[in-house]
Amino acid sequence: MIIAVDGPTASGKGTIAKALAAHFGLPHLDTGLLYRAVGRQVQLNGGDPDNADNALAGTQFPDELLDDPVLRNEETGGLASRVSIHPPVRGALNARQVNFANQPGGAVLDGRDIGTVIAPHADVKLFITASVDARAMRRWLEMAGREIDIPLAEIEADIAARDERDITRADAPLRAADGAIKIDTTHMDRDASVAAAIKAVIAKTGQAT
Ligand code: C5P
Repeated sequence: MIIAVDGPTASGKGTIAKALAAHFGLPHLDTGLLYRAVGRQVQLNGGDPDNADNALAGTQFPDELLDDPVLRNEETGGLASRVSIHPPVRGALNARQVNFANQPGGAVLDGRDIGTVIAPHADVKLFITASVDARAMRRWLEMAGREIDIPLAEIEADIAARDERDITRADAPLRAADGAIKIDTTHMDRDASVAAAIKAVIAKTGQAT
């Protein structure tokens, strides 16, 4: 079974994808991490994430970089959203994601274009949303938990800017795939979001575990 989970930043898609993978016993790929690694590698190279050639060079990152906690930072998320605009960068990362999706037994992938580009044939496509306010508050709480003090307004502005870039880019923009099931997590906590997603997968596939 292939499950595609798409949605904007801090919508809860990562948490949901991880929980679905555990529930259904499937391998999981957080595709945002690949774009984050590219953004970080461009930074390490001293390159410009808005320059297509510099961004493409960043796709040659070593696999160990995927384990670097710096990838989780807001700054790296911003770099990721800038490098992800360039079609050659997306092209360079696509094969890895397509292969992961099509492995025997299936997989769960989360990102922005899983249901539209990487696995349009997925058995279940979920599109996870939440208001900008709710997403900014989640990110702020997460940062506070890591003792990182960033004003809420700054996080809100950053999320809005990333949404704008992800939605308006010409290549593989963020949008719900045809046939995607939408889950709005604005008023849901973690457990309620996960329960809604599991219920949606079971309703669509008839497969309970
Ligand atoms: O999901 P995450 O916030 O880690 O993704 C970081 C950035 O990578 C996103 O803002 C988006 O621009 C890009 N991305 C993408 N396609 C994906 C996953 C992430 O363009 N499948």
